[in-house]
Amino acid sequence: MSHDGRFAPSPTGELHLGNLRTALLAWLFARSQRARFLMRIEDLDVGRARERFVDSQLADLRALGLDWDGEPVRQSRRQALYAQALARLEREGLVYPCFCSRREIREAASAQHGEDAELVYPGTCARLAPSEARRRVDAGEEHALRLRAEGVVVTVSDRLHGAVTRRVDDIVLRRRDGAFAYNLAVVVDDAEQGIGEIVRGDDLLSSTPRQALLYDLLGLERPSWAHVPLVLGPDRARLAKRHGAVTLRELGERGLGPERVLSLLAASLGLAEEGEQVAPHDLLPRFDPMDLPREPWILDPGELAEAA
Ligand code: GLU
Repeated sequence: MSHDGRFAPSPTGELHLGNLRTALLAWLFARSQRARFLMRIEDLDVGRARERFVDSQLADLRALGLDWDGEPVRQSRRQALYAQALARLEREGLVYPCFCSRREIREAASAQHGEDAELVYPGTCARLAPSEARRRVDAGEEHALRLRAEGVVVTVSDRLHGAVTRRVDDIVLRRRDGAFAYNLAVVVDDAEQGIGEIVRGDDLLSSTPRQALLYDLLGLERPSWAHVPLVLGPDRARLAKRHGAVTLRELGERGLGPERVLSLLAASLGLAEEGEQVAPHDLLPRFDPMDLPREPWILDPGELAEAA
């Protein structure tokens, strides 16, 4: 398996320091192994109005000094690949229509597991008689398509987290509105693009066993994974707009240019001294995945602006 890596932002807004730090890490993993680094725009369910974020995200990554091989791939132009994968799972009897609304799923999940249960689909429609399911589909009832996972338990191995084991629920493969779901698209794309090592934020770790199952069912070789710690605000919540100046544009307006931001990110990873001027390439010889901080980076953007 290659060490080729990628960064796969969803163009739903400007990238913030957390996204930029993950992008830097993904780049470091790939480039320190002399592997390819690819860019993929995850715009499956993003309207055209968000097009400007595609440009701003790529511009920000370039401003930090990151580079990638070839043109960025757009998920919105790859529907045929997802349809093919879905058809393969359908042929194997692994797909069923689900007519549940979000509210019904939430209620059923909390009845089973209590109020703060993660939203795990309880399999209601998996138990419908096939004739009944067909009748409702033929009658034009709106439905999602789900994977018949049958409660299988899957273990994945992560470079930073070790073995992670989880029971996989019946994930959505195609949504009610017809859009292919993230879990299907990400697997199809990473496999098709030859990605051997997936580096991304550790908020996605819990979805990884689901994706590993899809690799297995689609007859694809699993990649390796490295889920890296997130950046959190002072309230310990995932860094977001409301925490203050968190994007490259906002930080720039407060006197922190891209070089300063890169130096800050590198320092947060133990790869540079506080305030040291660095370019991404300078960090390659210093980078060792095993030395990465395992804890989230807690950041108060207000203090950054003052330091500018
Ligand atoms: N598009 C996802 C995001 O921006 C990342 C998906 C991934 O890296 O697998 O959160």
